[in-house]
Order: sequence, then C-alpha cells, then structure tokens
Amino acid sequence: MTIQGCSRRGKKCFCKSLASDAMKTIKERELWATAFCRKAGMRLTPVRQAILAFLAQQRMPVSLEALSQAAGIRGHCDSSTVYRTLMLFQEAELVRLVPTPQKASYFVLNTPGDTAHFLVCRQCGRIAELPLPNTTSAQIGRLASRHGFSPAPQACEIHALCADCQIDRSRQITPSKLSSGNKTKLRPRNIS
Ligand SMILES: [Zn+2]
Repeated sequence: MTIQGCSRRGKKCFCKSLASDAMKTIKERELWATAFCRKAGMRLTPVRQAILAFLAQQRMPVSLEALSQAAGIRGHCDSSTVYRTLMLFQEAELVRLVPTPQKASYFVLNTPGDTAHFLVCRQCGRIAELPLPNTTSAQIGRLASRHGFSPAPQACEIHALCADCQIDRSRQITPSKLSSGNKTKLRPRNIS
C-alpha cells in the first residue's frame, strides 16, 4: 500500500487554503487548479491551461499519452514538454502521480474533496477507484501517526491483482507446471 499526504514541509502549502467541501464540478475543479497556479506564482501558459482543463474533466488518473493527445495540447507541444509541466505541477502538489508496475505514470488533479484512493493492478496496471469510509481513512491516519508520519495521509494506493489478471494467473499456474517445478526443485543432489 502506498500512502501519500501533503509533504510540503517548510514550503508554502495551498491544499488547505484553497480547499472546498463542494468541489465536484469540472468547472470548479479547473478554477481551483488555476487559482492554485496563480497563488503559487506559476505562469499559466495556454498549454498549461489546456493540461489543467483536461485533468479537471478526469476523475481517474490519465496517462501521459492520453494527455498529449488532448485538445489544446496535441500539435502545440511535444510529450516531453507535457511531462516536464506535469512534474512541475507534481512538485507543487497540484497534480498527483500514480505509478503503475509497467513504469507508465498516470496523473490526476490533487483536488481537495475528490476521492483520492485507488486500487492499482500490479500486473496490467489497471486503476480503479477505492471509496474508503471516513472512519477507515481516520484509522489509517492514526496508524501513520503512530509510526511517526504526519500530516494525516490524503491518498492511498493499494496494489493487488485485478479480476482479469487473477484469471490469467490461474490459467498460467496449472497443476502440471507446479508438479514439474517441484520435481526440479526436489531433485536430489549428487553427494559422493
Ligand atoms: Zn490486471
């Protein structure tokens, strides 16, 4: 399990000052992101605005590839510029990076009030939303605090196998393969 919280120790954190309980619409999420940029002193270029507008429409993490193909981005800059911008946004904690086992990074807006917990398939990289009850989040926060981690975590990633990959895995591990594996493992050594 990966647990993330705001880590801007000693730096300016805008997460709480710009937080709102009812930040649910696409427009509100986009307005929050642009206000965040202004407050952090980041220049809002047309491409940066297009990236934020696209991310504001997504509730689930999106790939760099999908972002690079979005309207206002495709044809205006290359994917390395998009990546550098995302890294800048991540450093400011405006955007969150969700890593997958395939080393492909996925990005999601770090909007306060949004569901920030995800299940990530450790085989195919599929990402699903994980709605955690407030009591569970609070419990994780208390556990993190007991281990000396603060502030309370705001985002969790749990790595497991998705339903499709569980089926694939069960097809791959057949009893015959297991027995032949055991034979190799249990072959007696020549002691002379
Ligand atoms: Zn999977």
